Amino acid sequence: MSERTCRLVTLGCKVNQYETQLVKESLLSSGFREAAEDEAADLCFVNTCTVTGEADSKGRQLIRQLAKKNPGTRTIVMGCYATRDPEVLRDLPGVFEVVSDKRELPDVLNRLGIVDIPDGISHFDGRRRAFVKIQDGCILRCTYCIIPEVRPGLRSRSPESIYAEVRRLIDNGYREIVLSGIHVGHYGVDTTRAKSGLPPFRLWHLFEKLDRIPGDWRMRLSSIEAVEVNDEFIRTAASCEHLCPQFHPSLQSGSEAVLRRMRRRYSIEKFLDKLEQMREQLDNPAFTTDVIVGFPGETDAEFQETLAACRRARFMKIHVFPFSKRKGTPAADFENQVAPEVRKDRCQILSDLERDLAEEYYQTLVGRELEVLVEGVSRKRPGWVHGNDRRYAPVEVPGTTDDIGKFVSAHGESAGRHQVTAVRVGSESIVGSR
Ligand code: SF4
Repeated sequence: MSERTCRLVTLGCKVNQYETQLVKESLLSSGFREAAEDEAADLCFVNTCTVTGEADSKGRQLIRQLAKKNPGTRTIVMGCYATRDPEVLRDLPGVFEVVSDKRELPDVLNRLGIVDIPDGISHFDGRRRAFVKIQDGCILRCTYCIIPEVRPGLRSRSPESIYAEVRRLIDNGYREIVLSGIHVGHYGVDTTRAKSGLPPFRLWHLFEKLDRIPGDWRMRLSSIEAVEVNDEFIRTAASCEHLCPQFHPSLQSGSEAVLRRMRRRYSIEKFLDKLEQMREQLDNPAFTTDVIVGFPGETDAEFQETLAACRRARFMKIHVFPFSKRKGTPAADFENQVAPEVRKDRCQILSDLERDLAEEYYQTLVGRELEVLVEGVSRKRPGWVHGNDRRYAPVEVPGTTDDIGKFVSAHGESAGRHQVTAVRVGSESIVGSR
């Protein structure tokens, strides 16, 4: 019997990429192979996203394109959009099955003759950095967010399963593991509840457990809510040698009034206080964040408060998102929607501030030892490579393609708005060093 071929396409976040990888490894271990670029696949998988209306339409477009380019294919659609609106997706060409409830995925795979579904991934395509999903679901109700509708309830993976997966990925050459999820700060909340009878095992316990894995590797936390940073978290983060001192607490707005309308759970002072506590106990940690600009009713004064809070927080990176209405969320129906041109102007102002703050932070890395995970060669500077340091600062350092996927020890020499420039240390191969 000839080999069956498959094609997998992912939209959306790293958690989706992780889930696609899991399906892919199931297919490959059951005798499928990935179709070549110009070859029609027998089976297509689309892992959808529904974070915005554009993500929905991208998903529908993709499914139609796959049906055209892979005549006779059977397309299986999964992911957040599939959960949210399975009926619409079922009617699209080529669609064989819509997995609206992720728990049904093993049954769907079984029906295709795929019985060997691994407990975790062994590879993460195309990178030296692998994302590991440690939990799923969010039980909060931020007024702009649709995620709790499509990923409700909390489901934390067992520490043993995560440990085995991280070990496997390190053995397979991955140097950086990013602990990811939908709301990672709630890791272990579901398994720690009194009725479970299990001893508490929260995020910081997981750090400790994973930190015992020997070798040349590092782990990073994808995000954390400031209110979930407690003394144990900080103490453990400071003592785990493999954990990178970079954290992503989402600010979303620097205005108390806007935070209340967003139904966020912290005050600005509390948020900034947590960052200070971490700065006191960790070695120059880097903070990155998300900010939504132009949330309904955001006044100019409220936007100014966001700028002020960002300055005080000294973020290294700010992901700036103009508010976009998400049908089905309370904020989509709020009055006083902010005009698109005002949102655009405010995004520009915040992005300008972001570049200034980035440079300020990068300056703190000048004169320091850096551990750069090399990702590629510099396009502008022959003889140089680029990558990220433990604090996720982008760094350029002399090097060659041989360095890609490896750690390079470097010394920060200078910093600009976009990156730190470094020289190599502890290596003979200083190429093109100034
Ligand atoms: S934004 Fe709020 S509701 Fe949405 S996933 Fe994050 S914490 Fe949960």
